[in-house]
Parts: sequence; structure tokens; C-alpha cells
Amino acid sequence: MKAAVIHEYKQPLRIEEVASPAPAPDEVIVEVEACGVCHSDLHLAEGDWPQLSRMIKKPLIPGHEVVGRVVEKGDAVNNLDVGDRVGIAWVHWTCGECEFCREGNENLCPNQTITGATVDGGYAQFIKAKASHALKVPEALNSAEAAPLFCAGVTVYRAIKKADIRPGQRVAVFGIGGLGHLALQIAKVFEAEVTAVDIHEDKLEFARALGADRTFNAATSDVAKEFRRLGGAHAAVVTSGSKAAYDTAFYSVRSGGSLVVVGMPSENLSFPAIMMREIKISSSATGTRDDLSRVLELAAEGKIRCHIETRPLEEINDILDQMRRGEITGRVVLTISAPRP
Ligand SMILES: [Zn+2]
Ligand SMILES: [Zn+2]
Repeated sequence: MKAAVIHEYKQPLRIEEVASPAPAPDEVIVEVEACGVCHSDLHLAEGDWPQLSRMIKKPLIPGHEVVGRVVEKGDAVNNLDVGDRVGIAWVHWTCGECEFCREGNENLCPNQTITGATVDGGYAQFIKAKASHALKVPEALNSAEAAPLFCAGVTVYRAIKKADIRPGQRVAVFGIGGLGHLALQIAKVFEAEVTAVDIHEDKLEFARALGADRTFNAATSDVAKEFRRLGGAHAAVVTSGSKAAYDTAFYSVRSGGSLVVVGMPSENLSFPAIMMREIKISSSATGTRDDLSRVLELAAEGKIRCHIETRPLEEINDILDQMRRGEITGRVVLTISAPRP
């Protein structure tokens, strides 16, 4: 089968023919229709994460926002059938027995395997998945729009859920890109009053079209001051990786509110302890299968919709280059449609 493969860090991915996967008794083989390109894939290709690098498979097929059809299944699989359309997320498999799994936080399982990191991912014609962790995709969603829900969507959903937002509360979303436009829509699902913050007027216009109640341009106004005038945000969800956005967001949160970390800045974040004012700082590490089911349900009901650009697998190196230069704002989804071998 055709796949895009990381052989060496900081080198272009190689598009090449590799052996097609075969299923273990508890696995399915999925013919990939769409695979989202996540910022994490770029970090993996660059070898940026020393904490993870010991675990990472090499050579590696990346990709952890995968949707496709089951074409083969192992003998022990009885929850899925050939022909089912399923999605495969970052969390590839979890043990079900550790403290985190038993507490309902399987995304924190220390024994987990990770799609497109410790096992091969979806930048390929076929992928192997654990039948227990592949989730059926509702018919109402097309594969390309559904794919980013398996990382971007679930991560943002869990982050906002954990901020415990109640109807009518003021939520600020910093950065209206691939993650931010989902954050805005999900905050509306929680019936929040949503303010979008960005430095580009076109993104703010997009935010208003998606239902933002208010927008602030951080390039032309003192955003923290504007928020103080409103009484402060109950939660500020930062989807940008810019440290400046985190600094502004911190001072935009009201006392006792939450700063929700979604975008990954390369520098460490620091805040003056005297200004903490009982502010809670929270984050999410993708999400659980329950979170994913909820996200798929919301998307199928039309309450959240991921705006995407589809590109062929062969363009992956150009896409990663554009990502390095910060030129990608929405979500790019690889469509993989070569004939079956
Ligand atoms: Zn991701
Ligand atoms: Zn576990």
C-alpha cells in the first residue's frame, strides 16, 4: 500500500510502498478515506518531543485523525462489521485496568498506545485499529469533515467541558483557527456568551458568522481592559500557541475563573502568583471515547462543523512546510483514494 513515512527526524516524509497491515484477533483493517493533519504530526516529524521520542515507532506512518471503512476484521471482533465507517483517534488503545481507566479518564492511561506515534497512523491507504477503540461515524457526516473531530474536536470539547461552563457565562476564545473555530462552536453548545479574540479581521468576521456574541481585535485594542469592563471572562480558552495570547488571556479572566490551555506554546507559561486570584489553569490531553461520542453526536446534529481544506496525500511535505511557516489556519485533511492493491 501507499503511505507517507517518517524515517528520520527533520527530513521530508517519504511517500512509498509499504506492506499492508494484517489484523490481530481484536483488530480491524480500515481503508483510509480521510486523515487530518495535526500540529502534533509536525512535532513528531521534527523530533520535537524528547519526552515521547523513546516510545515513538520508527519508521513511522503518522496521522491520528483517521476516518475510513472496515475492510477486514480479526476473529474476535464482534462490535464492528466489514463496511462500517469508523474513526481512529490519538488514543489508539487503553488498558481498561489502571486507575485512570477505571476512573473514566482513559485518555491518561499510562499503558496506552498512540495512533501515528507508537503505532502506525493514517497517512496511508490502510490502517490497523483496535476494534474496541474505533468509533462508528454517523452517516450525517462526511469522512473529511469528521476526521478532525478525532483529535482537534475532542481535545477542545474536553477542555471546555472541564472548565465547567454554565449557561450565560462569558467565555473568551483566543485564536480563531483550526482549534478556535471549534472551541467557539462548542462554547455555544454549553450556552455560553462567547467573545472571539484574534489579530486578523477576517478571522473575527468568520467568528461572527459562527455565532460569536462579540469580537475583540488584539492587534488594535487592549483586550484585557475590554474584558475587565465586562466583568472578566469566566473562562478563557486559548487555542493559539502564542505566549502573548496566554498573557492577555490570563488578565482577561475574572477572579475564580479558568484559563484553559489548548494551543501549545513552545515556551513555558508563567504567571505571577500574586495575580492568581483563585484562577484555575486547566488543560486536556485529547479525550476519552465518551467525549468523542458526544462530539460526533454534536457534529451529526449540526451544532459543530469543522471547516476543512482537503489535499492529496502526496502533498504532505508541502503542507508540513506551510505549517512550519504558520501559513495554515484551518484544518487540512488528506484524502486518500488510490485503488485497492
Ligand atoms: Zn492531534
Ligand atoms: Zn489504563
